[in-house]
Amino acid sequence: MSIAVSTSETDDDALPISGLQHLAFCPRQWALIHLEQVWVENIRTAEGRLLHERADLPGESRRANVRTVRGMWLRSERLHLTGRADIVEFKPEPFPVEYKRGKSKPTDCDTVQLCAQALCLEEMLQATIGRGAIFYGNPRRRLEVEFTPQLRSRTEELTATMHRLYRSSITPAATPGPYCRNCSLVHVCLPEATSQDDAAQWVALQLRSLQQDV
Ligand code: SF4
Repeated sequence: MSIAVSTSETDDDALPISGLQHLAFCPRQWALIHLEQVWVENIRTAEGRLLHERADLPGESRRANVRTVRGMWLRSERLHLTGRADIVEFKPEPFPVEYKRGKSKPTDCDTVQLCAQALCLEEMLQATIGRGAIFYGNPRRRLEVEFTPQLRSRTEELTATMHRLYRSSITPAATPGPYCRNCSLVHVCLPEATSQDDAAQWVALQLRSLQQDV
């Protein structure tokens, strides 16, 4: 199934592919980063950024029958997405490779990001791309990803959601969960304080502790 993003948007409304990874992880995290421009650097994000900066250095090389392009700009007019692929190998079919510092994750946030890169490449090169890979730093290994119809639909649905959220400019309430432990924005988000269910309870608790301190 192909989901069209509103055609009323102009080319300048293209949103970053990397946002899909944040949105798949948590819609509030996406809004804090992409609507409110909050970013908290920590050891994990710094290492990830350095890894990307190295992998992103634009350039090209060839080994055997594989041409490798680093830092390739991507764009989809249909999905209103833009971004950069760490690496695209041409074997000769294009094969995107995304670098991640850490381990593979229990969610599909990385595969969705890679699939969005493939969708952009397909549109740009008028090609069909069946597979790509994510290179994880811990442990160092390449995980191949097949761009199934399900993964393509999920990626397009998330893209449409991301554009809707962007147009609404509303930061969703927190939905606290175990995943908050792995969120670099947990101290900005304050999930217990900002979830709709828990907010009143949290404020009452803070007021009570203030009263006890007086
Ligand atoms: S702390 Fe939890 S709810 Fe808040 S942005 Fe991060 S993952 Fe989302």
